[in-house]
Amino acid sequence: MNRIGKLYFRYGTMGSAKTALLLTQAYNFEERGMAYKCLKPVVDTRDARNVIRSRIGIERECGWIYPETDLYNMIKEETLSQTPRPQWILVDEAQFLTSRQVDQLAAVVDDFGCNVVCYGLRTDFQTGLFEGSRRLFEIADSIEEVKSTCSCGRKTIVNARIDSHGEIMTQGEQVEIGGNERYMAVCRKCWREKKVQSASRNQLPLTND
Ligand SMILES: [Zn+2]
Repeated sequence: MNRIGKLYFRYGTMGSAKTALLLTQAYNFEERGMAYKCLKPVVDTRDARNVIRSRIGIERECGWIYPETDLYNMIKEETLSQTPRPQWILVDEAQFLTSRQVDQLAAVVDDFGCNVVCYGLRTDFQTGLFEGSRRLFEIADSIEEVKSTCSCGRKTIVNARIDSHGEIMTQGEQVEIGGNERYMAVCRKCWREKKVQSASRNQLPLTND
C-alpha cells in the first residue's frame, strides 16, 4: 500500500515562533527515533550556513535550497536514498521558495508519500504575498496559522519594516534580511495608524499603496 503524505503550510508573522516550532518538531522526531530532514532557502544569511537556529537557543543542521535547486531531484537523490528513509521534511523560511519549488515539494509528497512541512511568512513588508507562500496557499493539503500578539492585544498580521528611527518604511526591495532591528510584527490597525503617523512626520504625501 502506498503511504499517503501531506504538504503542510504553517504561516505567521516574524517573531511568531515558527522556527522554534520547526525545531521542536525535529526534536520530537529524534525522541521517537524517526528520520527527518531540515531544509532552508539560502537567501537568509543571518545564521551560519547549514543551520536553522531559533532565538530561544536551539538549532539543527539543514540542507540549503538555492533559487535554481530542483527540490524533487534533490530530495529524491539525497534524502530519500538514506536509510532509514526520512518520512518528514521540514522547510524553514518557505516564503523564499519559488512557485516551481513548491510544486516540486508537492510532487515529492504525492510520489513518495512523505510529509513536507513548510514554515514561513504570509506577506512581505508591503503586505503582499511572497511567491512561495502564495503557491503554498494554493496547493497545500493543510494550512495552519501560527499566531502571535501585537502590543495592543490584536493578532499580528503585518511584518512592518522599520528604519533606524523606528519609523515604518513603505518602499524598498521585497527581500531585505534582518531581525528585530529591521522588522516589527504588528496588527493591521497599528500598522495603518503608524504608517500614517510616519508619513505625516516625514511630510510625505499619503498614498493608497
Ligand atoms: Zn496592534
